[in-house]
Amino acid sequence: MLYFVIAIILFSYILDVVVETLNLKRITTQIPSEFVGLYDQEKYIKSQEYLRTNTRFGLVQSTVSTLLLLAFIFLDGFIYLDNWVRLQTNTPILQGLLFIGAFVFASMLIALPFSYYHTFVIEEKFGFNKQSKLTFVKDQILGLVLGAILGGGLLSLILWFFESSGQVAWLYCWVAVVLFQIFVTFIAPVVIMPLFNKFVPLPDGELKSAINDYAKNQNFELQGIFSMDGSKRSSKANAFFTGFGKLRRVVLFDTLISKHSIKELVAVLAHEIGHFKMKHIHRHLIVSICSSGVMFYLMGLFMKNEMVFSAFHMENVSVYASLIFFSLVYSPVSDLTSLISLHMSRKYEFEADAYAVKTYGHPEALADAPKKLSVDSLSNLNPHPLKVFFEYTHPPVIERVKKLQSLSIQR
Ligand SMILES: [Zn+2]
Repeated sequence: MLYFVIAIILFSYILDVVVETLNLKRITTQIPSEFVGLYDQEKYIKSQEYLRTNTRFGLVQSTVSTLLLLAFIFLDGFIYLDNWVRLQTNTPILQGLLFIGAFVFASMLIALPFSYYHTFVIEEKFGFNKQSKLTFVKDQILGLVLGAILGGGLLSLILWFFESSGQVAWLYCWVAVVLFQIFVTFIAPVVIMPLFNKFVPLPDGELKSAINDYAKNQNFELQGIFSMDGSKRSSKANAFFTGFGKLRRVVLFDTLISKHSIKELVAVLAHEIGHFKMKHIHRHLIVSICSSGVMFYLMGLFMKNEMVFSAFHMENVSVYASLIFFSLVYSPVSDLTSLISLHMSRKYEFEADAYAVKTYGHPEALADAPKKLSVDSLSNLNPHPLKVFFEYTHPPVIERVKKLQSLSIQR
């Protein structure tokens, strides 16, 4: 059993190395024809340097975290942690919060220097970082506090269900997590996101009226269009839909607004509304609910498995250690379910593009937006298909542009 766990950890590490290496091998100095005029040779080479730097950085980080995890397992880290936790308190739920809390906190501490280096060395070097050290520290602290409150609350509930509800505990956990997820999505735009960014309603003007005209045309009731101060952290741009019901809103980064024409911005918005109208958001939610159902069911089967505990040389069987061990062996299954949702997500991008062209027209503006975005963020134009398959939520820009061009010919 222990070897099985180790094999899983090593397998996902090796897969990562293989995919990243293949991805790097695809680098060419030839600018793709769709991007001639948007990229000059010098900037294109810079984009490839950015890819190389980030890939190397990612590999170093995953090597370090994999080695630390293996060392922790082989040096009986779980046994020491369990003994320490049992000295602190006799209450199983508190023991669980301490055990898992310490494990998660340690993982966060290990990730911290990497996150610092990524922001203040790599992003800085390529001119993306706009974030002060103070903002970085604030983000970390806020993230920690929120994680402790929300994550700690949810974890207590899960521990309590598994301590007290027997066979059906997994079902209670599933329902609780789904309700919690819906609740958080609902309140996030007004309670959580404003802690990190400022959201201001889009001021009256050409952009707002162009957006409103389009939305009215489509019979789409926009609850609110907001601009977000993304420039506080990075020069990279984005747009998204958030929340649902009364609190649903469209958010455009200030960096997006400043760099794109009104036509492009309405095209981006039409694309986002396309996701909404074609029920992409609902379908993603359903898939995520189903996959968490599968996860909790398997978690229930895995709970307090004597074989697992003896493999880790643990004297005491507990709910909380079961949760951590489960998270180690569950990763291949979760990778599998994430492949499904990534595949859906990439398909939906084409559909939302087609929707935007159908309802707004201007396929060239719709193609220009992601083209400009990918040039500005120096993103990889020629990713390896395996990399796309395992990680991309969006199809490679060139595929989208080609599809849009074919749509514009059909029109
Ligand atoms: Zn999209």
